[in-house]
Amino acid sequence: MNVHPAARAASSDTGSIGASDAVPIAIAHGDGIGPEIMSAALKVLTAAGARLAPEEIEIGEAVYEQGLTSGIAPESWDVLRRTKVFFKAPITTPQGKGYKSLNVTIRKTLGLFANVRPCAALSPFVATKHPDMDVVIVRENEEDLYAGIEHRQTDEVYQCLKLVSRPGTERIVRYAFDYARANGRKKVSCFSKDNIMKLTDGLFHKVFDEIAAEYPEIETDHWIIDIGTARLAARPEIFDVIVTSNLYGDIISDVAAEISGSVGLGASANVGEHCAMFEAIHGSAPDIAGQNVANPSGLLLAGVQMLVHVGQPEIASKIHNAWLKTIEDGIHTADIHKAGDSAEKVGTDAFAEAVIARLGESPRTLPAVSYALDARPVEIAPPRRPAPQVKTLVGVDVFVHWREADADALAAALKSANAVEGLDLILITNRGTKVWPEGLPETFATDHWRCRFMFDGTGQSAQVAALLTQLAKAGIDFVKTEHLYEFDGQLGYSLGQGQ
Ligand code: NAD
Repeated sequence: MNVHPAARAASSDTGSIGASDAVPIAIAHGDGIGPEIMSAALKVLTAAGARLAPEEIEIGEAVYEQGLTSGIAPESWDVLRRTKVFFKAPITTPQGKGYKSLNVTIRKTLGLFANVRPCAALSPFVATKHPDMDVVIVRENEEDLYAGIEHRQTDEVYQCLKLVSRPGTERIVRYAFDYARANGRKKVSCFSKDNIMKLTDGLFHKVFDEIAAEYPEIETDHWIIDIGTARLAARPEIFDVIVTSNLYGDIISDVAAEISGSVGLGASANVGEHCAMFEAIHGSAPDIAGQNVANPSGLLLAGVQMLVHVGQPEIASKIHNAWLKTIEDGIHTADIHKAGDSAEKVGTDAFAEAVIARLGESPRTLPAVSYALDARPVEIAPPRRPAPQVKTLVGVDVFVHWREADADALAAALKSANAVEGLDLILITNRGTKVWPEGLPETFATDHWRCRFMFDGTGQSAQVAALLTQLAKAGIDFVKTEHLYEFDGQLGYSLGQGQ
């Protein structure tokens, strides 16, 4: 479970731990605006009396430049695994050199499967068209297209694998419902694209419906991601908690932060069974780095989430309320400053000083926060493995690099090469659309063909291997295969469009 040991100690005794019990955390100052906003956030945390023992690690640009393509030194992993709590400023991912995003690496390596991104309007103090907006996005953090498994297979075609697992989906959906329960939220909405991706997004929606039934007091609905995003942008007040997969969650949380006032306000907790990482949702903003103008609010509010996680909810509330009061008093950084409405435009440091000056105060108009009373920690169980089902091999998709734009000629070549008894070519598609048999001349074909062979009944992997050997001998350039299975008699593959 993810409840930090210090949080358990704090809730089991008087609710207060001494300064000698400072909680070890790892911190990274990051790149671009990272050092400025981290220094501002740490000043506020320290002034508020947060009992933390930070241990600094270096990640990002400087580490990439030392030749470490992961962006993190091996010894830094030891610090992260020991402290189990990471307060991280944004970093810059070098573009176009094949480097992997370190953010994604850290989230996945430490098993931080849930990315929690609250987004509430601060109306009338920060300009927004959506004064009643108060949304929490729970984004799946480890799977989907962010598995980062990409291949170039032909001259013309590149692919990215979208991986969705049942244990991963169950965990994130259950986390969203438990989060709603622990934080007094009334509704959980699921966003997916299961009208198109019936197996992957279909699983996400199905699991959502299954788990929703265990939380009868919570209202639920499901939105196709496109109309869901449009509604979120136009009427965010109709949403409460949204649970969605990795890519959709990444996109809609920037939309949500921006329409609430500024992307600079967005905080994010990345939570797993063993560790947690707290960061702003925005990046390193190189366009404004080094100018002392960045808004430190996203990182500061991530620090507030961290204090709740480590069992210091009173300090978290004290900082959050002082921050709300600062916003109410019109002390604004450039991204949210509005002439006439704001009282003063301040830089990063002065904003932090203004929050510090208000520690102990509460907002007058915006609702004050009380984490000790209103939020309970979310307990996380290990992922559950589903019972194995009867898996039957019924066919194989062979993907072929074929430069002639002629499906009939490809079909003839495949048929003449294939001598495996009871394994027949039944379909060829190009980018998912049927082009053989009886394709239409209007369909554009690339050089990447999916050739579907079905067994007469069930088959064996050895027969697939025999087919591939025969295709290779005939000079047919196959670039990948996908086995076609049934699980307990249910199709484990999609049909070709037009099949
Ligand atoms: P970005 O979020 O850094 O900036 C987008 C825009 O928002 C810019 O105009 C920027 O000035 C503004 N902005 C961002 N944070 C702000 C703040 N606190 N105050 C005021 N304005 C702010 O996105 P980007 O420009 O696409 O990415 C820059 C770099 O950050 C890239 O290298 C990217 O890979 C990286 N990145 C890192 C993280 C992370 O570390 N978690 C997340 C996203 C992007």
